[in-house]
Amino acid sequence: MASIALKSFVGLRQQVSTEKPHYFFTSQSQTRPPRKLKLQVLASKSSPRLTNRNLRVAVIGGGPAGGAAAETLAKGGIETYLIERKMDNCKPCGGAIPLCMVGEFDLPLDIIDRRVTKMKMISPSNVAVDIGQTLKPHEYIGMVRREVLDAYLRERAKDNGAEVINGLFLKMDVPKDGVSPYVLHYNGFDGKVGGVGEKRTLEVDAVIGADGANSRVAKAIDAGDYDYAIAFQERIKIPDDKMAYYEDLAEMYVGDDVSPDFYGWVFPKCDHVAVGTGTVTHKGDIKKFQLATRKRAKDKILGGKIIRVEAHPIPEHPRPRRLLGRVALVGDAAGYVTKCSGEGIYFAAKSGRMCAEAIVEGSENGKRMVDERDLRKYLEKWDKTYWPTYKVLDVLQKVFYRSNPAREAFVEMCADEYVQKMTFDSYLYKTVAPGNPLQDLKLAVNTIGSLVRANALKKEMDKLSV
Ligand SMILES: Cc1cc2nc3c(=O)[nH]c(=O)nc-3n(C[C@H](O)[C@H](O)[C@H](O)COP(=O)(O)OP(=O)(O)OC[C@H]3O[C@@H](n4cnc5c(N)ncnc54)[C@H](O)[C@@H]3O)c2cc1C
Repeated sequence: MASIALKSFVGLRQQVSTEKPHYFFTSQSQTRPPRKLKLQVLASKSSPRLTNRNLRVAVIGGGPAGGAAAETLAKGGIETYLIERKMDNCKPCGGAIPLCMVGEFDLPLDIIDRRVTKMKMISPSNVAVDIGQTLKPHEYIGMVRREVLDAYLRERAKDNGAEVINGLFLKMDVPKDGVSPYVLHYNGFDGKVGGVGEKRTLEVDAVIGADGANSRVAKAIDAGDYDYAIAFQERIKIPDDKMAYYEDLAEMYVGDDVSPDFYGWVFPKCDHVAVGTGTVTHKGDIKKFQLATRKRAKDKILGGKIIRVEAHPIPEHPRPRRLLGRVALVGDAAGYVTKCSGEGIYFAAKSGRMCAEAIVEGSENGKRMVDERDLRKYLEKWDKTYWPTYKVLDVLQKVFYRSNPAREAFVEMCADEYVQKMTFDSYLYKTVAPGNPLQDLKLAVNTIGSLVRANALKKEMDKLSV
């Protein structure tokens, strides 16, 4: 979500890149350059045609990544299985989604709790800047509860023909050749709550790992680890008059007190607010940061009652390996959360859909076996489209989250109307937002000015405190 503010910086608009694809990864199978188109077509044609059945694909995990993947597979003629361990899972999450997700994933408006049109960025010294003034009447940031969004996407996958299995995926037997099945082992719950379930197996031709940050599928393909932030959130039911203040407003707090490397937030939900923070570098202090976030918002949440406490890892970068054979990782399992902003819902759903599309295409709508080259097309497309976004947010975190003076400068910069416009355009639409070169230049000068002022102020404060 901090990307709302961060992406606006000069030249940082999200782009559908025309650059050469960049490969994040070092594993042998992924550093090879993409094959020439002609070779790809021939290879695909040579893959065996399936007789008497369609391609079988299992999606492990029914969050946004898994739900979107399963729906696309089922629509594309694939025999699809979606395995989710907990059908009423409340994924710990701020639940902020960009407007384009509502359109691209055809989300009904009644699953969106709040339409946020005002965002307050609050600096370490509690200077609040209102952003969102440039939004058009129909534009907003969606706020969802994950138990609602995820259930909706899973249900839609089922309606399109996916078989949704309530089960805990345990492990898989990996075939030695390119045509034998993967044998998945899972505990089937059949919707029964409690108990360990019944041991079962399922044979499939390909697997999509959409099982989140602690992915077992990632372990099964030895995908390697990533750095992660720990994020902590409390759902707080506040009195009606306080809730009215947050009706269409969200807050983001920056400062050493709320997090040394992330931000604190208050996001409105149907009848409560979600208050949270995160950190990569000081995980042991997360409760202290949470307390500070609550303290900063205290007047606005006074009289509130904590109704739920939740915490979860947020990946900081993609895993060293995201693909092996006929197994691919998507969403948090792959590590697709934008650094420093913690935005991952849209990217999870997009990657799930993109991976599924590659399988549908490679298998000619489920009629042929797929191989690693088919799945790799998803990775190539993903990296080409989103690599610049991840890189830019990485750089911005280093510039603006490094100290309180830099954070003051960052908030000051957010007051600029041009920044706000570029920011919201790039966050809401995830597309090219053509800039104005003169305004870009002005913004660059102002930014440097803000940073210099903030540092000068820090020096004066330091002198006073000696
Ligand atoms: C506190 C917090 C706040 C956040 N706020 C935001 C925000 O405001 N906006 C935003 O865009 N992103 C936010 N994120 C990030 C976002 O939550 C994730 O990026 C997103 O959930 C990734 O979706 P996913 O489908 O890849 O994985 P998940 O949502 O983690 O879904 C994985 C699914 O797999 C299931 N599963 C796991 N293991 C197994 C298994 N062995 N067998 C069967 N099923 C299994 C789980 O039950 C779960 O349903 C936040 C994250 C945290 C922790």
